[in-house]
Amino acid sequence: MTNNKEEINIIWLKRDLRLNDNEAITNARKSKKKILFLYVFEKILINNPHYSERHWNFIKESIRDLNKNLHKYNTKVLAITSDITAVFNQLSNKYKINSVFSHQETGLLVTYNRDKEFKRYCRNNEINWVENTNNGVLRGLLNDDNWLEKWENYMLFPQHFFSTKDTNFTTIHEIDKLSPYFNITNLETKENKTFQKGGTTSGWNYADIFFKLQQTAINNISNTKAPQHFSRLSPYISWGNISIREIFQRAIKEKENTEDKRLLNLFLSRIRWQAEFIQQFEMESTMENASIEKGYQKLKKNISDEYIKAWKEGKTGFPIIDASMKCLNKTGYLNVRKRSMVVSFFSNALWQPWQAATHHLSQMFLDFEPGIHFSQLQIQAKTSKQITYSTIKNNAGHDADIRFIIKWLPELANLSVRFVQEPYLMTSLDQQLNKFILGKDYPLPIVELRKYHGTQIKITF
Ligand SMILES: Cc1cc2nc3c(=O)[nH]c(=O)nc-3n(C[C@H](O)[C@H](O)[C@H](O)COP(=O)(O)OP(=O)(O)OC[C@H]3O[C@@H](n4cnc5c(N)ncnc54)[C@H](O)[C@@H]3O)c2cc1C
Repeated sequence: MTNNKEEINIIWLKRDLRLNDNEAITNARKSKKKILFLYVFEKILINNPHYSERHWNFIKESIRDLNKNLHKYNTKVLAITSDITAVFNQLSNKYKINSVFSHQETGLLVTYNRDKEFKRYCRNNEINWVENTNNGVLRGLLNDDNWLEKWENYMLFPQHFFSTKDTNFTTIHEIDKLSPYFNITNLETKENKTFQKGGTTSGWNYADIFFKLQQTAINNISNTKAPQHFSRLSPYISWGNISIREIFQRAIKEKENTEDKRLLNLFLSRIRWQAEFIQQFEMESTMENASIEKGYQKLKKNISDEYIKAWKEGKTGFPIIDASMKCLNKTGYLNVRKRSMVVSFFSNALWQPWQAATHHLSQMFLDFEPGIHFSQLQIQAKTSKQITYSTIKNNAGHDADIRFIIKWLPELANLSVRFVQEPYLMTSLDQQLNKFILGKDYPLPIVELRKYHGTQIKITF
């Protein structure tokens, strides 16, 4: 490579895979230097047990979507599979790197350590690393006094609109010429309609449908259909295809045209929880491994590989749990009630430590967001056996839950509602009449859940 090094600035994309309302891009543009968009599929994360192929595919789809939009500016994202410092070492052979712009990442311990190492690398190589605020999560906050006020101010502040005026991007041709020096990532993915497709375009399609359904449900009194409560925006928010501020401001705008604002207010509170959980994690990152409650740190639970395997595969013998797990494994999504239920069942009915659930769930949730994952896992693991039991017994009686169970466990489709809900209640005669053998057509329960009914976990603090 040449010795006459051209000076550039790099936008290191992480969980902010969007062009609009991206502070890192705005600040990089202000620097007036040539810009290179970079995404690194980092080996430390590819090999990390919290991640799985579905996440990498979502990211690849997101980058393809970015590239589609960047094409008109004759640039694209340089997407590489490697380690971040190896990439910078190689880029430094060709360019004089002036500054790197990224967002402040609230991630796993492994990314925290990588950031510390990268900071040292930048210092040693005279590179200026500018980390930008992400979704109103504040770094260095010692307590959460006034946090909400600060967050709301951030949310109401004007967005960083993507503009290319007077911006000099590294051209597609220049980026292609870099290819021989890097392990360029193939961004093609196999078509898989069971997962939500990554990318800002797809994210806004979901948002448009969600807001339209809210309006129809609320404004049309004669509409007997239940409104669509869940937006399915979580993967787009978690991977940064859409900023929280964009979605917040859109919801506020939608509210202006809506008489009954209750549903949108509830949606806005859930949007706030997203940041609240991440802020908490930013301030207390040890919760990745340690229980937040000291009493739980002392609680010893024996790991059962057999129980964990059955739970992961949806073969526990409890239909609502098994159907939820099969749905999650196949689609990457569960609503919050079912997420809570599978965790509570794991922790209370199977009496397993929450730490043993973390990898499977994070790998399966397409929207895996460390800041939400660990705290929610710990909260739900603490809910009582009684709640787990009544969820399985009573809530499964709802029509929607019965339909859900049959969809994911078609082997139960010909049974009466009572047995779809609790097949283990079938006597030998019931089994003969239904031509259904428990233990063969569907697993026998792996634990005696009813034994626990009415008991609360007793933990000495
Ligand atoms: C054990 C467990 C693990 C979870 N792990 C994740 C995770 O890794 N990533 C993730 O985004 N959400 C997680 N959640 C929160 C919640 O279940 C999902 O955000 C929600 O189900 C996503 O569906 P939606 O986009 O349709 O949400 P909507 O109900 O439409 O809400 C809009 C947005 O608000 C945020 N939100 C909603 N509910 C919550 C909540 N309870 N806590 C924090 N933010 C919320 C999400 O960004 C969501 O997209 C977890 C919940 C539990 C119980």
